[in-house]
Amino acid sequence: MSLDVDAAGPSELSSPLYREAVVQFDRVADMINLDDNIRARLRLPQRSLVVTFPFRRDDYEAVDTVFGYRVQHLQTMGPTKGGIRYAPDVNLGEVAALAMLMTWKCSLVGLPFGGAKGGVRIDPTVLSRSEKQRLTRRYTMEIINFIGPDKDIPAPDMGTDEQVMAWLMDTYSTHIGHTEPAVVTGKPPSIGGSIARREATGRGLMSLLPTIASHLSMPVAGSRVVVQGFGKVGRYAALAASEMGCKVIAVSDITGAVHNDAGFDIDDLARFVAENRGVNGYRHADELDPAELLTLDCDVLLPAAVGGVITGENAPRIKARAILEGANGPTTAAADEVFRENGVLVVPDILANAGGVTVSYFEWVQDLQNYFWSEAEIVARLREILNRALSEVLDMAIQKGTDLRTAALMKGIRRVADAKLARGMYP
Ligand code: NAD
Repeated sequence: MSLDVDAAGPSELSSPLYREAVVQFDRVADMINLDDNIRARLRLPQRSLVVTFPFRRDDYEAVDTVFGYRVQHLQTMGPTKGGIRYAPDVNLGEVAALAMLMTWKCSLVGLPFGGAKGGVRIDPTVLSRSEKQRLTRRYTMEIINFIGPDKDIPAPDMGTDEQVMAWLMDTYSTHIGHTEPAVVTGKPPSIGGSIARREATGRGLMSLLPTIASHLSMPVAGSRVVVQGFGKVGRYAALAASEMGCKVIAVSDITGAVHNDAGFDIDDLARFVAENRGVNGYRHADELDPAELLTLDCDVLLPAAVGGVITGENAPRIKARAILEGANGPTTAAADEVFRENGVLVVPDILANAGGVTVSYFEWVQDLQNYFWSEAEIVARLREILNRALSEVLDMAIQKGTDLRTAALMKGIRRVADAKLARGMYP
């Protein structure tokens, strides 16, 4: 019996993001005349692990039982790679969709990885530090046979950070009996983490702006930028934007949205957020309805929070000339259709936010070699890889008369398909 997404979806992988990922993949598979057998294989994740596990609350009375996931989309290219998110609505379908996106992303920028993703269904904002540590160590034990430097290498994503990666690395190392830094990336530099990993996604994203701006005949300096999400990606993207002379005029996070036409001092805003756990109440700004943030009058929009926020409904009201996708999957297929019609330039997630996995790749290489590079080397290699991918995607888009997402997916999927055909099928 052949598996199609409709058959697999409702029972196992059903989620809006997974459906979006497959619709996107099928569209491009048609355009590149992808072999039917390869198409059927790539629509589904290769390995999916669902676990439930308990962790103790601080009072040592209550024990919570939660769901955890780790999905490896594709083994063909090397070990798998992808973040772990802690969020209250994580589910298998979402993790599978994000693992698939990671495959195309790694392939597009030429990294020797297939895509993976993991998650725990929990609201991390209500956990104490010690609760988060117990949760992380137990989750690591549940997936320990699934991960490893040659198998699958996790990294931070929404709701997780350097500290969570350090606990994961420590738990793994303790259980295998020796220190193994290369099991995870996005660790603190004191235990083998890479310099510049923390800011890599946001800064990498903004390193694409000069080329995008020149493509649109728009100046970088003075351009008005709106950022949704002020976490690891949004904060460093906003900082890089203001260092490049852009004006960051609105920022939002889970607590609310703030607006200042004169542009924010991002360091000051970051200090406020660190003290107050959110942008809400920031004094040098007006409060804004978060629903209006995406449709504000601006030049560049950076969605850097969650998936599925730019839809067929709000896309026609978006005024930005360029959208740089910091988040994974922020734009639905219906919204993409609107942008293809009205000419808004969307730099897709698999290209725009690939700085994170690229510096993660550098970190893994450095850990395996026990030889660490300078910040200047890391930043230069990151810029070179991302900007080469951007120029290849721009060329492909012009040559095929398509948008950048289609061109990026064409390149990413083609390389994976070639590798699968070259390896053949066992037995
Ligand atoms: P994070 O947890 O550090 O930050 C997320 C931010 O989004 C927080 O400021 C949070 O308050 C905000 N947020 C959450 N829900 C929101 C909502 N509904 N509206 C507005 N803001 C909201 O996470 P992150 O690592 O910055 O990841 C953000 C996005 O970027 C995710 O989609 C993630 O998959 C993607 N991404 C992250 C990396 C990385 O290196 N961290 C790399 C590539 C892609």
